[in-house]
Amino acid sequence: MSFPKVYWDQAVELAPLFNELVDRVSLDGDFLQQTLARTKEVNSFTGRLLDIHAKMMKLNKKEDVRLGLTRSDYMVDGATDLLLQVELNTISTSSNGLACGVCELHRNLIRQHQRELGLDPESVVGNTAIAQHAEALAGAWAEFNNQSSVVLVVVQPEERYMYDQYWITVALREMYGVTTIRKTMAAIDAEGELRPDGTLIIDGSPVAVVYFRAGYTPNDYPSEAEWRARLLIECSSAIKCPSIAYHLVGTKKIQQELAKENVLERFLDNKADIEKVRKCFAGLWSLENDSIVMSAIESPELFVLKPQREGGGNNIYGDNLRETLVSLKKDGSNELAAYILMQRIFPPESLCYLVREGTCIRENAVSEFGIFGTYLRNKDKVIINDQCGYLMRTKAASLNEGGVVAGYAFLNSVFLT
Ligand code: ADP
Ligand code: MG
Ligand code: MG
Repeated sequence: MSFPKVYWDQAVELAPLFNELVDRVSLDGDFLQQTLARTKEVNSFTGRLLDIHAKMMKLNKKEDVRLGLTRSDYMVDGATDLLLQVELNTISTSSNGLACGVCELHRNLIRQHQRELGLDPESVVGNTAIAQHAEALAGAWAEFNNQSSVVLVVVQPEERYMYDQYWITVALREMYGVTTIRKTMAAIDAEGELRPDGTLIIDGSPVAVVYFRAGYTPNDYPSEAEWRARLLIECSSAIKCPSIAYHLVGTKKIQQELAKENVLERFLDNKADIEKVRKCFAGLWSLENDSIVMSAIESPELFVLKPQREGGGNNIYGDNLRETLVSLKKDGSNELAAYILMQRIFPPESLCYLVREGTCIRENAVSEFGIFGTYLRNKDKVIINDQCGYLMRTKAASLNEGGVVAGYAFLNSVFLT
């Protein structure tokens, strides 16, 4: 996908600012609890996360070493030419491995057919996601400072992303000599053990870092066992990627709250930085705002209705959006607090070749661009705060949703113009 350098530069510049913002917000436990209080009443998943968070606040548990592997997703708004943030992911930010592979594939194809295509393979931006994610995880492991410790990768029972995750595991072993252990939440509940000093033990090894590649959706918690595992991990001394607080910062409700006037100012000091961050915010509203709800009922095509969910395929559009709002309003129910409204972004369309399972179709498509971020700090010392590779996803312009594994979008790479 051709992608103008100005947007690339802007997203790269924003990455460390969002990393810092996530860290700052995560430290304000009351802000998280208060902002999500109404959501909690109607969304039991967010409620359970908040309960664990509240327990940690009560214990006054401090996370000295904090690790964030984030991904800030953007779309270019065709009407204004602005790069607008779709969402900020703080848990289980995936496709780091696949995105690197697709980028190499595209580079190689252009290299092989350079004469016919007349394109420069170097314009396909190299993807450093795996190398830098591994560097951050290994960095956290080093801060834990126990040679016999491992990185625990939390995965789903029927893991469709195992090949995406595989590359990280390989990089950790080959570049840093760090061992990873893969476990489901249920297995962690059954086998995990917490030593009195807080050390989490799995398969006889102390755990330095817990890298969540599951745990972001209610489907990952089919029984109490998974919730016990989440609590066990949170109570332990292992470095969590993410901690429960980082996880909550990534919720849609917090995104919407941060977009309100004067809220960013609570967390960031530098005025110029605040301006840069704010400039990429699309319109975001809570459903307490009656006039916006009325506008969305009148013109649903201009909005996206979002529940507090992750992983794609959960948003509501068009006629569904209107019907949902009308019925929520009629009931006068608290259910309104389960959603946020967002301005719908319309990225510019272009003709693309979309290949799925060997079949190629030519379609008008739009793209969503995500930039990965890594953040590692130990108390006052920021060890890493950087952008670290990207995810370009392209989908037919006629579709609403956009996830790859959710079945809508295609992996792509950036061709800088
Ligand atoms: P999730 O956490 O489930 O990935 P997202 O907020 O990223 O939730 O929404 C899923 C998809 O819906 C996005 O990948 C994008 O394709 C589409 N989408 C989300 N918000 C907007 C928006 N404001 N305008 C247009 N499309 C959107
Ligand atoms: Mg998300
Ligand atoms: Mg998303």
